[in-house]
Amino acid sequence: MLDAKIPPGQINEKWKNHKFSMKLVNPNNKRKFDIIVVGTGLAGASAAATLGELGYRVKAFTFHDSPRRAHSIAAQGGINAAKNYTNDGDSVERLFYDTIKGGDYRSREANVHRLAEVSVNIIDQATAQGVPFARDYGGLLDNRSFGGAQVSRTFYARGQTGQQLLIGAYSALMRQVAMGTVELHTRSELLDVVTKEDRACGIIVRDLISGEASAHSAHAVVLATGGYGNVYFLSTNAMMCNVTAAWRAHKRGAFFANPCYTQIHPTCIPASENFQSKLTLMSESLRNDGRIWVPTGFDDKRPASDIPENDRDYYLERKYPAFGNLVPRDVASRNAKTVCDEGRGVGPLRNGVYLDFDAAIERDGLDTIVARYGNLFDMYHRITGENPYEQPMRIYPAIHYTMGGLWVDYNLMTTVPGLYCIGEANFSDHGANRLGASALMQGLADGYFVLPYTIGDELAGLLGTEKVPNNDPVFTKALANVANETDRWLSINGSRSVDFFHRELGQLVWEYIGMERNKTGLEKALTEIPALREEFHRDVRVLGSADTLNQSLEKAGRVDDFFGLAELMAHDALEREESCGGHFREEHQTLDGEAERDDQNFSHVAAWEWTSNHNLQTRHREELIFENVALSQRSYK
Ligand SMILES: Cc1cc2nc3c(=O)[nH]c(=O)nc-3n(C[C@H](O)[C@H](O)[C@H](O)COP(=O)(O)OP(=O)(O)OC[C@H]3O[C@@H](n4cnc5c(N)ncnc54)[C@H](O)[C@@H]3O)c2cc1C
Repeated sequence: MLDAKIPPGQINEKWKNHKFSMKLVNPNNKRKFDIIVVGTGLAGASAAATLGELGYRVKAFTFHDSPRRAHSIAAQGGINAAKNYTNDGDSVERLFYDTIKGGDYRSREANVHRLAEVSVNIIDQATAQGVPFARDYGGLLDNRSFGGAQVSRTFYARGQTGQQLLIGAYSALMRQVAMGTVELHTRSELLDVVTKEDRACGIIVRDLISGEASAHSAHAVVLATGGYGNVYFLSTNAMMCNVTAAWRAHKRGAFFANPCYTQIHPTCIPASENFQSKLTLMSESLRNDGRIWVPTGFDDKRPASDIPENDRDYYLERKYPAFGNLVPRDVASRNAKTVCDEGRGVGPLRNGVYLDFDAAIERDGLDTIVARYGNLFDMYHRITGENPYEQPMRIYPAIHYTMGGLWVDYNLMTTVPGLYCIGEANFSDHGANRLGASALMQGLADGYFVLPYTIGDELAGLLGTEKVPNNDPVFTKALANVANETDRWLSINGSRSVDFFHRELGQLVWEYIGMERNKTGLEKALTEIPALREEFHRDVRVLGSADTLNQSLEKAGRVDDFFGLAELMAHDALEREESCGGHFREEHQTLDGEAERDDQNFSHVAAWEWTSNHNLQTRHREELIFENVALSQRSYK
């Protein structure tokens, strides 16, 4: 049983009391502590900037050439906060409730309440940094709606919210770099987390340009390395997103929680051929005004404009009148799959559903729609060659976000003392399904407002302790391991590229651990994934050398880690004999096809402990206690 270290007291008092009861490090002493932050997306950049501003000595690492290239930049639709600017009944309590319900009652109440509380601070912080959020006619920040909520609480900057927030966090980070409190290491990839006497003491990184591996030591290490959606190969994530940092930490003792909780986003551009390497998201915000439909009849090949109203099935509006097109992502995705599987899909490959703006343009006028979504429409037009102002967009679900990740306690510390994990890389807050616009909120909450408090509590106890020197045998050994691994990849000299194996793996994961899972498929995955990994180790061809820029070498290590993760996902999905949120087990559904939870047996977080035998990882549990929200069958009808 895992101890999440949830503070005692009423839910709305926990964080406040905890902040007061935590130990502080005085300003002069902060200078005595070194903190490593890996990842400079929204979570990492906000954390590194804040810790630097507080006075700690921070080293920040990213494999990108600039923090501004982090995948966070891709976020389009917006960021939630319980400001209630629109006066439509929002509150901290409602955001808390929506998030718990949206996550299908599989998240920790105390964390989610804290997230809802600090959401309001994030918007103030970002606005003060100059983030150009959209404004309403009176000058207040504007809001729009996202799935799973009946209020408008999503702050946005057209379809570039992530980019604008990241520029804000990046500016804060670069200010600290200029002030000398943060040392920034770009193009540096973490290849190992180093521990001494079971405590994190540093990392090993490889310089992606020179190939040189180096050791870095600190009093605490923070991973802010993003999600693992690219295990599916085709996803909406940036091509470089991977699980390596989290996975290698897992191998050093950090438990991996709920790996089978992955999110399929309902509004992506459908794949157009087999060799595509990337899928593109169309922001969920489009569901504010777009209406989703398919033809009523099967295999209807007429162009959308020739299909009259009474031959159209607005299936979400029909099945879920209360939420309509704004049902949460898991519900919208599964329904799109159902109608396509029935033979009612649209587009050349019959693998999409329509997202139609005709009614919105007629109601609000073209100018309004252009102002709201112009850049998204342009992007769609450029990619598909179809003009969405004239014909409906075609959309289909795609893997987009991962709710699973390293297990962390209330203080965001993993099971390895001194090792923290924030942002999408940890498992916290979203349960089995993340609501739209809540990832940016969580990443920035962790980085700006939670970690900077909780890490001090831990460091205060280390006052007077020197960090482990980076020539200590634990570092020397870790460096030697990295060198051996590199040699191994370069010496295989097989016949297939790394990408070949990644694509094959992705197809297995999508088929057996994708939108729907069942026992037979998961058992097949557990046979086929190890077989493919064995072939990968025997037949992969990694060209080039170790002492230069070598993307094939970089990818080999990342894909190897995806293999381990994919197997763990299958184990996790197999063990979880229920459906909840994004984890839909075909055997566990209600008569009308909705997810059927088993609260009696599965109201817990599953956290896996590494053993060198992939099949024998140990499953630990953190029981989820619901004292403030009554568990019920989710209904959006
Ligand atoms: C297309 C798209 C649109 C989205 N839109 C929204 C939205 O509108 N609202 C919302 O709330 N969420 C949205 N999301 C989700 C959200 O963008 C992400 O969850 C969030 O940005 C993740 O931030 P992060 O800081 O945790 O990770 P990232 O932004 O992925 O940053 C990870 C960082 O870690 C570094 N890194 C990773 N591994 C290593 C390593 N081994 N060594 C060194 N550095 C490493 C990377 O260089 C990078 O700096 C969207 C996601 C996608 C895919």
